[in-house]
Amino acid sequence: MSPFLSELEERFIRYVKIDTTADPASTTSPSSQIQFDLLNLLARELQEMGAAQVETAAYGAVFATIPATTEASTRTIGLLAHVDTAPQFSGTNIKPIVHRNYSGEDIVLPDDPSRILSPKELPYLGQRRGDDIVTASGTTLLGADDKAGVAIIMAVARHLLNNPHIPHGPIRIGFTTDEEIGRGVPAGLPGALKADVAYTLDGAHRGEIVYETFSADAAKVVIKGVAIHPGWAKDKLVNAAHLAAKIVDTLPQATLTPESTSGRQGFLHVVGMSGSASEMVIDIILRDFEREGLAAHGALLQKVCDAVQAGEPRATITCTITPQYRNMRYWLENDLQPVELALEACRKAGVEPFSVPIRGGTDGSRLTEMGVPTPNLFTGMQEIHGPLEWVSLQDMAAATETVIELVQLWAVAGPPKTPAEPAQESPAKTGSAVD
Ligand SMILES: [Zn+2]
Repeated sequence: MSPFLSELEERFIRYVKIDTTADPASTTSPSSQIQFDLLNLLARELQEMGAAQVETAAYGAVFATIPATTEASTRTIGLLAHVDTAPQFSGTNIKPIVHRNYSGEDIVLPDDPSRILSPKELPYLGQRRGDDIVTASGTTLLGADDKAGVAIIMAVARHLLNNPHIPHGPIRIGFTTDEEIGRGVPAGLPGALKADVAYTLDGAHRGEIVYETFSADAAKVVIKGVAIHPGWAKDKLVNAAHLAAKIVDTLPQATLTPESTSGRQGFLHVVGMSGSASEMVIDIILRDFEREGLAAHGALLQKVCDAVQAGEPRATITCTITPQYRNMRYWLENDLQPVELALEACRKAGVEPFSVPIRGGTDGSRLTEMGVPTPNLFTGMQEIHGPLEWVSLQDMAAATETVIELVQLWAVAGPPKTPAEPAQESPAKTGSAVD
């Protein structure tokens, strides 16, 4: 049995009960002041356990240092988790329930018995028979995303500070806010974190190590028609709404949408359309794992806009494409050591690691392109952002043991290769990091 189980349970249960829902409508940082309720608690607990340089940033982050126990290490390793929870489902009054030694039966959530976790629909749950499973009670999400990561990092910090004979270099801890609304990496974060390499603890299945994310662009199509009183409109009015509908309808719907693609395929996704007969705006996100694919999606959209424009020269149609984030593999493939050591640490902790490209971005996507290579490590969290969210405490313990192995591997790792730079373009430093 893992020595970390009871500590992880105690911390996790305490942290998830603190409401830290992010607020996408807010323009402040953090988006909701309640995120400080957990940040301040974590800062206090880090101080009490003897961490150094515990600092709270006004924009919503807590940093701390676990000082090196060996001179050998040349690099500072960052460990990151976000305290906010997704606004899509209630994070207020969370009542976590521990289902000990899970039997493999359906789990009916007591506060809404229509919410059922069944291993028939959730095969990974079936694999976790015998584990201690934590769920919410039916009316809220659980917040394992990412308080599982928070609890794991706190358990790692406490363990390393209590056991200075474990050899490791300097470790920087960062607890961040607003990851769920795409504002998790403010410009000052890399400078404040002061890490050479970092890991987000924000992944799912046991053994999962992510270093491939989507590359992402956002497109805005603006259609200006010709507005005239409909009573006098014959041969004069140009209706922007009809032209917008034509553009959307001309985009491939059976082959290039999120609902028609999987695996390594990319897509164009119409996320919003608004306006009037005189002017319409279409917001579209473009996603692909490869630069060439992303460029092709942009070219296709431009071609469709050009064709509709050619059919109605009195309208004005513009299409602006803005880079959002890039596949972190572009940087990591120049020096895969952060990934290779994570894979090795996983094996040392008794877990068979695997890597899958994820169809989204992480805070690590932005951090990596800002110069801090940041793969994402598993925590165990499942069915996130909804009432069926759950996590296995044994998965969290496996992640804790993996990180403790990982910092020791870094202590004896060789010097860095040449600084990681992407092979080609350098994407713009704007846009949201996560979706
Ligand atoms: Zn997360």
